[in-house]
Amino acid sequence: MPKIDEKLHNVTARLIAAAEMAGRDPAHVALVAVSKTQPAEAVEAAYRAGQRRFGENYLQEALDKQTALAALTELEWHFIGPIQSNKTRAIAEHFQWVHSVDREKIARRLSEQRPESLPPLQVCLQVNLDDEPNKSGVTLAQLPDLARAVYALPRLQLRGLMAIPAPRETRVEQRASFARLRTALEALRDENMALDTLSMGMSADLEAAVAEGATLVRVGTDIFGARQAPTG
Ligand SMILES: *Cc1c(COP(=O)(O)O)cnc(C)c1O
Repeated sequence: MPKIDEKLHNVTARLIAAAEMAGRDPAHVALVAVSKTQPAEAVEAAYRAGQRRFGENYLQEALDKQTALAALTELEWHFIGPIQSNKTRAIAEHFQWVHSVDREKIARRLSEQRPESLPPLQVCLQVNLDDEPNKSGVTLAQLPDLARAVYALPRLQLRGLMAIPAPRETRVEQRASFARLRTALEALRDENMALDTLSMGMSADLEAAVAEGATLVRVGTDIFGARQAPTG
């Protein structure tokens, strides 16, 4: 079994190759290592190999890891899972980024609860690209209204959009999904919102995402291996 540092290196090489293939600067594609269900030791191994951004889906598990790894001061934590109202305060206090905002009520709470001592919380809106009934995310139809509301909140900095498209077999189909998210971001920028982030692409489809302009790619399995059962 390859070790975490080797797998991280392989994923980084894939991102660079995909950026170069697309004529993009690889420096504009950042990797979020998705460490959900993985132990703090795995995060530390990736950190020692140079990784700084980590994505977590489950609040309590993430807080436990943050406590265990408090000595690693350069860690940047991204919350990427569904957000319940009663979790917003801890998210606002303990993360630098949130990718999964899909309701105005949640955004308002995060803004109100973001400590004054910290910079604004960096936020992406999660879009349900395929209107899948059991998936989080705002629909493309409702996105502009939500974006305008979130953009105006004082303690959030809206950076862009995130999506987890329905699985597609071919690279061409994967790219078509990601292109729809890119087009949605461009439409918001046309309304003079200063947005620069497309959080898209995972282990199975990161090449297609980078080809369509991903700036944050969220990769779990191909760095850490198969996941353990979630801890809730
Ligand atoms: C788990 C997860 C990922 C990582 O998926 P892999 O297929 O393991 O790379 C990315 N984004 C979100 C929102 C996730 O929940």
